Amino acid sequence: MDLDNVHWLGHSTVHIVTDISIYFDPYHLPHGAIPADLILITHEHYDHCSMDDIVKIKTEKTVLVVPRKNANQFSGQVIGVAPGDQITAAGIPIQVIPAYNINKPYHPKDRQYVGYIIEVEGVRCYHAGDTDHIPEMQDVKTDIAFLPVSGTYTMNAQEAAEAAEIIRPKLAVPIHWGSVAGYRTDAEQFIRLSRTRSLILEQETEPFSGE
Ligand SMILES: [Zn+2]
Repeated sequence: MDLDNVHWLGHSTVHIVTDISIYFDPYHLPHGAIPADLILITHEHYDHCSMDDIVKIKTEKTVLVVPRKNANQFSGQVIGVAPGDQITAAGIPIQVIPAYNINKPYHPKDRQYVGYIIEVEGVRCYHAGDTDHIPEMQDVKTDIAFLPVSGTYTMNAQEAAEAAEIIRPKLAVPIHWGSVAGYRTDAEQFIRLSRTRSLILEQETEPFSGE
């Protein structure tokens, strides 16, 4: 897989499409969005765990990977996870990374919110969830890193650039900007400050599967 397989759909929504369709934190999806084989939810906040959007892409075959505390809110094939877990879901190896704030109250560590590293066709992709720059990022090994940059609820652009320098991905992509929190200027500042290769993915309106 390469960057053509990676789509940013706004806010923290990342859609990876190869032979398999994988969504992180689907939110404000268009009607008729491509169905999901695998959905990964980082935490329970409305802009990351949107039931309205999950139903748009969930089929009988869809596997949902969600924080363990929320697992009973979902039906179908659901796997509850906590930081530190390593699982395989829909054939995809998944490592569960903690996600939490260190200098703000919105995502306390004890809630066990998460980020994920998944491996798709040999390419490792890290979706950090809503987090500050945390020590556990030192152990993250990934090719692509999707990092929140808006500040307020997560790392700001400068903190995210510092995190990217620790993680050292082949490519860092700013997320969590442009709607609920953060502006394009935050993404641009992240690009400017990053010493790792970084890129703004333009927000896509997906090719529709139907109508
Ligand atoms: Zn949140």
